[in-house]
Amino acid sequence: MKTLILGEVIDNKLSSGTLEIINKANSLSLEYKVVTVGSSDAPVIGSSTFHQTYIKRSAESLQFNNVADKLSQIIQEENISLVLAPSTYQCRDLVSFLSVDLLSSPVSNVINFDIQDGSVVTTNSINGGESIYKTKITSSCSLLLIRPKSFDPIDLELNSEYETIEVENSDIEIFDVFKEEKSGPQLEDSKIVISAGRGMVEKENLSLVEDLANKLNAAIGGTRAIVDAGWMPYSQQVGQTGKTVKPDVYIACGISGATQHQVGMKDSKFIIAINKDEEAPIFQLADLGIVGDTLSVIPKINENI
Ligand SMILES: Cc1cc2nc3c(=O)[nH]c(=O)nc-3n(C[C@H](O)[C@H](O)[C@H](O)COP(=O)(O)OP(=O)(O)OC[C@H]3O[C@@H](n4cnc5c(N)ncnc54)[C@H](O)[C@@H]3O)c2cc1C
Repeated sequence: MKTLILGEVIDNKLSSGTLEIINKANSLSLEYKVVTVGSSDAPVIGSSTFHQTYIKRSAESLQFNNVADKLSQIIQEENISLVLAPSTYQCRDLVSFLSVDLLSSPVSNVINFDIQDGSVVTTNSINGGESIYKTKITSSCSLLLIRPKSFDPIDLELNSEYETIEVENSDIEIFDVFKEEKSGPQLEDSKIVISAGRGMVEKENLSLVEDLANKLNAAIGGTRAIVDAGWMPYSQQVGQTGKTVKPDVYIACGISGATQHQVGMKDSKFIIAINKDEEAPIFQLADLGIVGDTLSVIPKINENI
């Protein structure tokens, strides 16, 4: 089955979502090429093991229609019948354009897929991970949006050999661009994630979590409750409508453990929860539970590291 993996470049590298899909495609022995979309000048994203095309777009352009046109052309000229993309803002936008061009409905929330009797069969997670359903795709081109962390990323030696296609800016006038500053370890790749919830009581107390994160070189996340309260930017939200993380250690500080939060962190390898309510659902997931007040437990941990 001729396959196109729609990849992304983040910080001059192939995104972790792209590397996860490449690993899965290899395990199914799919015949694939990678088309990566980004705005970096000369990212090191080529590989001797697959063909790579880099579609370079302007960092200022917020429009994806020209990129989607190029992708659509590649898919149709090369008779691609399976498109695999990580479920990110950019790829969701691009796949929406493709679905119109190719008259094919995208299948989203994919957590696994297989090829059975020549058809693509997917496993999908919905309702905050509480329900799983399966699809068998009958359209001539299958478009899959795959949830991050569904597969392990492949370890690749990357080079600078790939084809580059530059796309024109669209003729939309941009008045202003807001770029969220990123500093310190990022949620997607950090081995330790410390997340805060309403049980940190006040925004000012997040400094305790920051101190702990600095000591452990950890990324900081939060629940939707505190993001909605303006304690943290949305880019740090973990859960169904935020990011999915799968670190070696996840420390939940004052988080009840609602299913919508769990779906973004339940696959972490070791979960530590601090909550004053011993009945909090987060303890059902935790490998280590600390029943206590975050405002006294976290300073004690900080003192002892
Ligand atoms: C469609 C939809 C999508 C959603 N998406 C997300 C999502 O992506 N991510 C997400 O996180 N949520 C999401 N939610 C919200 C989710 O349902 C919960 O409301 C939210 O996760 C609760 O956040 P919380 O644990 O911080 O707050 P709470 O549920 O209020 O829990 C606070 C916890 O802190 C404990 N606590 C209080 N004080 C202390 C203290 N001093 N010391 C120790 N513990 C203390 C309490 O016992 C309690 O367990 C979504 C909801 C919906 C409907």
